[in-house]
Amino acid sequence: MIKHTIECIRFREEMEFAKILWLTQWPNHCEKCYGQGIFTRYDSVDYGSTRVSMPFDEPCETCYEANTCPRCGSSIPEQCFEAFWDDGNPCPICGYAWGRGKGDVMPDWDGDCGCDWLDDTILNGLQKDWLEEELRETKKEDRQNASNALEPNCNT
Ligand SMILES: [Zn+2]
Ligand SMILES: [Zn+2]
Ligand SMILES: [Zn+2]
Repeated sequence: MIKHTIECIRFREEMEFAKILWLTQWPNHCEKCYGQGIFTRYDSVDYGSTRVSMPFDEPCETCYEANTCPRCGSSIPEQCFEAFWDDGNPCPICGYAWGRGKGDVMPDWDGDCGCDWLDDTILNGLQKDWLEEELRETKKEDRQNASNALEPNCNT
């Protein structure tokens, strides 16, 4: 069981919120690519005597075949087809720009945070020290407050 840090939990909540916001804002988004529009695929090609894996970009087939914008889901006007799909121009309806613009793609996160690197025992040890320190400070303050309260107030 991974214990996430406070920062991580906050970050997770923010990401979740941004995701919901995007989905609400673009209800007709593509269910396949979630605004990505392009998938990177790998092709094995001959390179001298060996074969290497070459990345190449391919448009989301769901969007491409339907000729719809990956984000707003609107039909791309016929006269914009080439400019949109071949030249990567923005969507004439919502301005979607293939991930170049802010909010083009649904904010997502693979959940890899590195919290599992924090050893539980170290974390617990730190928390224990920190708690004891806090308690000491609080007790000191309480004593001070108590002695302050005993002082007669002469200004009333
Ligand atoms: Zn985490
Ligand atoms: Zn798509
Ligand atoms: Zn659009």
